[in-house]
Amino acid sequence: MTINLKNLDRDWMTEHTRFGPAGVPPMFRLMGAKTPDVPKLLHEEGLDAFEYQAVQWGQKPQMKQADAEKLGEEARKNDVRLSMHGSYFVNLAGKRDVVEASKRRLIACATAADWMGAYVMVFHTGFYGRFEKDYAFKTCLDALKAVSAEMRSRGLKVKLGPETMGRKFQVGTLDEILTICQEVEGTQLVVDWGHLHALHQGTLKKTEDFRAIAEKVEQKLGVEALKSMHCHFSKIEFTSQGEKRHHPLDEERYGPDFRMLAEVIADFQMHPTMICESPLLDIDARKMQDILKQVLESKQSKAAP
Ligand SMILES: [Zn+2]
Repeated sequence: MTINLKNLDRDWMTEHTRFGPAGVPPMFRLMGAKTPDVPKLLHEEGLDAFEYQAVQWGQKPQMKQADAEKLGEEARKNDVRLSMHGSYFVNLAGKRDVVEASKRRLIACATAADWMGAYVMVFHTGFYGRFEKDYAFKTCLDALKAVSAEMRSRGLKVKLGPETMGRKFQVGTLDEILTICQEVEGTQLVVDWGHLHALHQGTLKKTEDFRAIAEKVEQKLGVEALKSMHCHFSKIEFTSQGEKRHHPLDEERYGPDFRMLAEVIADFQMHPTMICESPLLDIDARKMQDILKQVLESKQSKAAP
């Protein structure tokens, strides 16, 4: 593929890849920071995204509206794009009462995500359990259409972000997530690259492997969905069942390699929001940001006359 950097899209000039941590970095807590202080501290580190963790939430928002709005205000002031990771207690492929409770949890998270002005509320779709995979997936799809309709009737603007999952018993292969994004209104693609790597026993080994995923996304959802995807990234350890543990970026023995993804981000002129889920959160988010910068600069210098 040849890249002509003189003919870059306009959105590539105004939009850029954003980086930030999944949750509040431990150092911020040691400094005594409260949640609304986080965007300013991230901005001072040179980061520009933050994924608020609502992972333990139940069927009601577990933060006050005023606090959520304050966080949103600080995020806008400091040019930090907010996202939310919704409740882990969601299974849209379960029994009827489980599905109904899961829908209420998603609505509760989406409500607070809207208060803070988060652009996407990421969530895990569910578990196949004792159901046939196709049946479980169909149940999820129907439930998500209902959640999406309920969100619209409540005037909630945040996008639903179904995430690609890393364990064999979880709903959320790349194909399933792409189908959800095609069929459910108001969705935003969320690709967890570590999960993709773990689910398929370490398949992201070369830049070409990342490129193949980007091409598939573009083919199914179009170029805009590809360019603006929401991403999770960390190195990952896996077993035959998939994801086991997240690892820091510098751990050589684990994949995937962020530099390969950076190559693809540059080649496809993507501007994803990149949330770092390694144990080192903001520190590794900055490392990823540096790697992308190096890749872009080296491509630019090669393209220069
Ligand atoms: Zn997740």
